[in-house]
Amino acid sequence: MFFIPIFFNETFIDVIYQVGRTGAITPVANLDPVELAGTIVKRASLHNADQIAKLDVRINDTVFVEKGGEIIPKIVGVDLSLRPEDSVPVKYITHCPDCGTKLVRKEGDAKHYCPNEFGCPKQITGKIIHFISRKAMNIDGLGEETVELLYQNKLIHNYADLYELKESQLIPLERMAEKSAKNIIAGLEASKQIGFEKVLFALGIRYVGETVAKKLAFHYKNIDNLMQASYEDLVNVDEIGEIIARSVIDFFKNPINIEIISRLRSYGLKFAIDESVYENRTEKLKGLNFVVSGVFEKFSRNELKKTIEDNGGKVTGSISKKTSYIIAGENMGPSKKEKAEKLNIPIISEEEFLKMLE
Ligand SMILES: [Zn+2]
Repeated sequence: MFFIPIFFNETFIDVIYQVGRTGAITPVANLDPVELAGTIVKRASLHNADQIAKLDVRINDTVFVEKGGEIIPKIVGVDLSLRPEDSVPVKYITHCPDCGTKLVRKEGDAKHYCPNEFGCPKQITGKIIHFISRKAMNIDGLGEETVELLYQNKLIHNYADLYELKESQLIPLERMAEKSAKNIIAGLEASKQIGFEKVLFALGIRYVGETVAKKLAFHYKNIDNLMQASYEDLVNVDEIGEIIARSVIDFFKNPINIEIISRLRSYGLKFAIDESVYENRTEKLKGLNFVVSGVFEKFSRNELKKTIEDNGGKVTGSISKKTSYIIAGENMGPSKKEKAEKLNIPIISEEEFLKMLE
């Protein structure tokens, strides 16, 4: 999909500072709400302190906002002719808005961080919310609000605590029906079947996103191998760079994380790749990028994507110069076809794709 950026003028009212699950601080601009293309825009991203300084955006400035493909628009400039005379530069916060700890900023990092990793409420709940999210442990019945509620009631302090929850502890909570309590417990139980690659992603190691987690899980096969991996070992894994390697080492160096993992293990979560999953994997499509379009006979689109990934290939949503093949089913989108022809990218059928795997 392509988005055409739309620019518009808006009044910047204030900055709010969000604390992410890794402690990263993101400044967000509060704007005078305006309707644009059917949605009300009242916030814009400011990214980091450097960005604010670079734009020299000030409270009550009239700013140019760009709305593109991102969920939240961004401020791209200031209309200086409308700047109030008494305006002063924005003073970036020095302490965490959530826990009050002095912020740190590492050499070469654009973001400020709250270093109070295990004591900052936003980081604690942020990590748990990430853990239960759809692409991670995908726990049915549990949502952001419930996590906040459980944390406020001191029932959970980290994601391992989730697995010790009992129905009888949940039912007395505000807005919690017996049925929802049952759902949560059942959802947690079911999550014990989630594959190692997702469990690894769920742990929330900084810089270890979905794809990296998958890479590491299939390379090391189980958590013990990964925990013992040295820095040199990690950077030698395909697509694992220095920053990720350092972050993985730091994560497993921390005794709190080790204890949480050992608890999760004792509850029966998967910390090794299922042999059966592993047997079906190959590297036959290594280095190839695929785009899938249309309806297929032998596969659903998701099965096709999984087959590509299981064989070492990559699937992307849109066609670019990096695309190696387009697998076309019935009713392939005409715009995709046109783009593929323009970029000279081979379009193959389902059968031709299966031949690549033989
Ligand atoms: Zn904090």
